[in-house]
Amino acid sequence: MKMQTAVNAVFPPDCVCCGAPVETEFGLCAACWAETPFITGASCDQCGMPLPGSDPDPDLRCDDCLSIARPWDKGRAVFAYAGNGRRLVLRLKHGDQAAIARASGKWIATRAAPLITDNTLIVPIPLHWWRLFRRRVNQSALLGQALANETGAAMAPDALRRIRGTGSQDGRDREGRFANLRDSIHPHPRRGHILAGRDVLLVDDVMTSGATFAAAAQACHDAGAGNVCVTALARVAKDA
Ligand SMILES: [Zn+2]
Ligand SMILES: [Zn+2]
Repeated sequence: MKMQTAVNAVFPPDCVCCGAPVETEFGLCAACWAETPFITGASCDQCGMPLPGSDPDPDLRCDDCLSIARPWDKGRAVFAYAGNGRRLVLRLKHGDQAAIARASGKWIATRAAPLITDNTLIVPIPLHWWRLFRRRVNQSALLGQALANETGAAMAPDALRRIRGTGSQDGRDREGRFANLRDSIHPHPRRGHILAGRDVLLVDDVMTSGATFAAAAQACHDAGAGNVCVTALARVAKDA
């Protein structure tokens, strides 16, 4: 009997969402799995938005990506920000962060596999230092580390820096969100050089308008990155 199997026999692992006993570690119970809106069919190749149909057409674009400048190449999201998808994101902030990050790392690794190359550097979206100070944990960094552990890709947690607080994006329309984020993220003055020549996979917990990814992707290009792709745990289906 392997060590982990022996441990599980004594302490059965919990569902990372509801705490019910499950068979494998860092997963969901059957009920939570069924209620989580995983994106499995067609999705926008650039932002991961779920789209009608099941055809994995590599050239599929949503209306937003056809009309908004997206300074990155491809994007994927694990689930829609609704129901259990929303609950898991909130628990990543306020609940059992380590367990949810580890489960999420596996899901993102599967969903974003086509975006990862031998040259990929995983870069989490940075928090402004004041928000980090208050919240103590950057959930994007937790996801980035979990994804790096899962894939073996390198991770640079401080290649980018948020140079000013941008307040809440809530209540802003799309133009307001982009205007608020513009120039808010720069390459780190001492460690940003690591981005030069690398393929970058930006990681965030939630993608709404894409304004944050746009600011971060632009900063990566400014630092000489090659291909820039984005991945989020949850995709908000409409600007809300
Ligand atoms: Zn559950
Ligand atoms: Zn899109």
